Amino acid sequence: MKKNAPQKAKKIPERRCTGCGGTFPKRELVRVVRSPEGDVSLDFTGKKSGRGAYVCPKLECLKKARRTGRISKSLECPITEEVYTALEEEIALMEKEREDD
Ligand SMILES: [Zn+2]
Repeated sequence: MKKNAPQKAKKIPERRCTGCGGTFPKRELVRVVRSPEGDVSLDFTGKKSGRGAYVCPKLECLKKARRTGRISKSLECPITEEVYTALEEEIALMEKEREDD
């Protein structure tokens, strides 16, 4: 492959889960984003601008990330109960959907 081949070639972007610390394809993770205004929210499109942190769509990973404070460290800002609750709800839904498969 040529060195200056376009980046969109075939490489799958990977990110690290702030819970288990494993590396996974970006699209398999949930993105938490801090907007330039400082609001923390979930980003299901992967297109919101701002600083992002990633976590597996598993409650286990989210709880670990919450306990260790790694999401908030990664975003360099505190995360409110509300955001964690929203995350937990979304992830619980995703887990449920997977079970229904
Ligand atoms: Zn994980």
